[in-house]
Amino acid sequence: GEKQPINLNALADEYLKIAFHGLRVKDKDFNTELKTNFGAELSPIEVVPQEIGRVLLNLYNNAFYAVQQKQQQGQTGYQPRVTISTTQFNRTIQIRVSDNGTGIPESVKAKIFQPFFTTKPTGEGTGLGLSLSYDIITKGHGGSLTVESQEGEGTTFVIQLLS
Ligand code: ADP
Ligand code: MG
Repeated sequence: GEKQPINLNALADEYLKIAFHGLRVKDKDFNTELKTNFGAELSPIEVVPQEIGRVLLNLYNNAFYAVQQKQQQGQTGYQPRVTISTTQFNRTIQIRVSDNGTGIPESVKAKIFQPFFTTKPTGEGTGLGLSLSYDIITKGHGGSLTVESQEGEGTTFVIQLLS
C-alpha cells in the first residue's frame, strides 16, 4: 500500500464499525458499550490506510475480547466498555483504545509485543497482532505504540503519530 493523507477519525470509526459489526453477528448477546471521543479538526496525516486499519482492528478485537473475558467472571454490575479517543497536540496525533476488561499482569506485559505470544486458547489467537502492529506503527510510520494496564481493571493502548 501507499501512503496517502487521511483523516484518522474517519479511519478509526470505519474500522470500529467493522469490528463491532463482526462481533454483533457472532454473538447476539453482545452488550459491550462503545464510547468514542474523536478530537475535532485533526490534521490530515500521511499513512498507509490499510495498515493503520489493521492495527486498529487488532486493538479493537483485543479490547472486545478482554471485556468479554472479564464478563465471564460474572461480577455483579459489570458493564463492559470500550472507549476510543483521538487527540492532537501540536503535530502529535494520539489514538487511545481503552477497555475495562481483564487487564494485563506485569509478567505478561513484558511479552505482548513478541511474535507468537498469546494467552488465548488455540484457534482464538495467533499472537501476531501486536508484534505486527508494533512494526507497522514504529518502522512503517515512525510512531510509537505503548500500553498502560492495571490487572483486573483494564487496558489502554496508545498510538502516537506525527502529522
Ligand atoms: P492475540 O490477540 O492473537 O493473542 P496479540 O498480539 O494481539 O495476539 O496480543 C497478545 C496478547 O496480549 C494477548 O494474548 C493478551 O494476553 C494480551 N492482550 C492484548 N491486548 C489486550 C487487552 N486489551 N487486554 C488484556 N490483554 C491483552
Ligand atoms: Mg490480537
